[in-house]
Amino acid sequence: MRRTVAVTAVAVLVCAGGAGGAGLVGPSAQAAERTARPAPAKQAVASGYGGGVATVDADATRAGIDVLRHGGNAVDAAVAAAATLGVTEPFSAGIGGGGFLVYYDARGRKVHSIDGRETAPASATDKLFVDPATGNELPFEAARVSGLSVGVPGTPATWERALDRWGTYSLREALAPATKVASKGFVVDDTFRTQVDDNRKIFGDFTTSRDLYLPGGAPPRVGTVFRNPDLAKTYQLLGRQGTKALYDGALGADVVHTVQHPPLAPGADREVRPGGMTTGDLAAYRALMRAPTKVTYHGLDVYGMAPPSSGGSTVGEALNILEAKGITKRDQVAALHSYLEASALAFADRNRYVGDPSQVDVPLRELLSQGFAGERACEIRSDSVLAKPVAPGVPDGDYSRCGEHASVAPTEQREGPSTTHVTTSDRWGNVVAYTLTIEQTGGNGMVVPGRGFLLNNELTDFSFTPTQGTAPDPNLPAPGKRPRSSISPTIVLADGRPLLALGSPGGATIITTVLQTLVNRLDLGMSLPQAIAAPRASSRNTALEAEPAFRTSPAGRALAARGFSFTSVPEIGAETGIEFGRGGFVLAAAEPTRRGGGSAMVVHPRPER
Ligand code: GLU
Repeated sequence: MRRTVAVTAVAVLVCAGGAGGAGLVGPSAQAAERTARPAPAKQAVASGYGGGVATVDADATRAGIDVLRHGGNAVDAAVAAAATLGVTEPFSAGIGGGGFLVYYDARGRKVHSIDGRETAPASATDKLFVDPATGNELPFEAARVSGLSVGVPGTPATWERALDRWGTYSLREALAPATKVASKGFVVDDTFRTQVDDNRKIFGDFTTSRDLYLPGGAPPRVGTVFRNPDLAKTYQLLGRQGTKALYDGALGADVVHTVQHPPLAPGADREVRPGGMTTGDLAAYRALMRAPTKVTYHGLDVYGMAPPSSGGSTVGEALNILEAKGITKRDQVAALHSYLEASALAFADRNRYVGDPSQVDVPLRELLSQGFAGERACEIRSDSVLAKPVAPGVPDGDYSRCGEHASVAPTEQREGPSTTHVTTSDRWGNVVAYTLTIEQTGGNGMVVPGRGFLLNNELTDFSFTPTQGTAPDPNLPAPGKRPRSSISPTIVLADGRPLLALGSPGGATIITTVLQTLVNRLDLGMSLPQAIAAPRASSRNTALEAEPAFRTSPAGRALAARGFSFTSVPEIGAETGIEFGRGGFVLAAAEPTRRGGGSAMVVHPRPER
């Protein structure tokens, strides 16, 4: 999120005050300025020692850095930053959602990961998003803005699990900075206002969302101070009781009530289907430790998130394909050509084979094998573009046939551009890459009454109806199942020590954003900040998109001449990352401009020794 307005510029304070003092601060500008926490200065790149934090938002990055300065480690800082994003970036992340966390443990020199993905309730069937009256898929908005789309939140359990396992802070301590931002307020920037405005109709249809985010009937104005005392109280409750407040307590009862009885405003002109989540579904929830995915690229070990995210398998397979093709900086157009085709091929395999591994037999080892990648790589032509959609390959362990593929006609997957990514490191060398989400920007549109946070619509990441022709779709809804994700928190090790950590929001473009940044950094000779800032293109088999600056670049024009037909999109992704140098040096980087630009800080800013 963007902090476009420094606190000294907080001139337009409106006396509006939503329910319980939430929303814009009153009664006077002076009072608000006294209570508002100043917006920290924001810069996209920082370097130095002692650890670093990169997020999309300066308040969140500051919360993480403050934790590091007070002796906390990378996990403590990641939870503090993520909880602050739940306040300042509430339309992308929060305790109503889920996410995936990858962690490098410096002492054990090992990479771990936590799957904090939301689960479908026990009552879910493969027809969750099929209208029983017509037998057709529900329109996307009807599915999203409903109780049906809400998965059991995994974010609080992720925080508790990470802190218990690797942290030094209690949950209460880690939530303290965010609690302060929620209760004292922060300065509204253009991103926050725009995201409310984009959801104005939906938020306006729910009493709770309207009262919090549309005080006086309009989105908060840029430069005003926004408070969320309900969320501050919720964080305090979680700090006191732990996550059992949600999974077996009053907070959970409120979530279930909201899912089953959406707080529709009188006169709202929409049919809102209730969902079937119960307190039993909450009680059954676990954030799971999972073995991360691993591939070797140019001798580096690239770790990612295993299923139910398709991030690690798809980024990993595409890197293996590129390793088989061999790309070089000397021919940037050829390298980008291979990047786009490798990505399309890997997406075909993702859609055909990846789902929740507790319910689907995912051939992960084969998908990540160099043999399979070789069979896929030999489909790529240097003088022409593959006809799309390409069919999935056959990851059967027999890779003697160039270009063997299954006959399946994949159809378009629907995934939106929200979510947020936190990268942290500490002075001991621990590293966190953590991507969290409530799915669409604004989640399912419903703030839980009296609790100050939005619910997710993560279950719309399931296929609504089968997408794989006569083959089974691995991503249909089922009881207790986790929808397939594209989230790709990634940590790269060189000789067992961290070299890079990164991740991004952006639905299915998360995968291509992370992949392209790795190619930019590891093959095309860019620094991490350059790799993040560079114009992006995204090939996902059923979609080929590019930012305007990519399309008009010499490489973009050359690729178009070869037959790549890009659809123009304004922005792809909003990445953050950290690169690690010698002797504890860190280079933290966020977007310079996308989504208003992000915020990178380090504990001791200094040039590299
Ligand atoms: N729900 C998406 C996923 O898990 C992320 C949401 C987004 O970035 O748009 O892949």
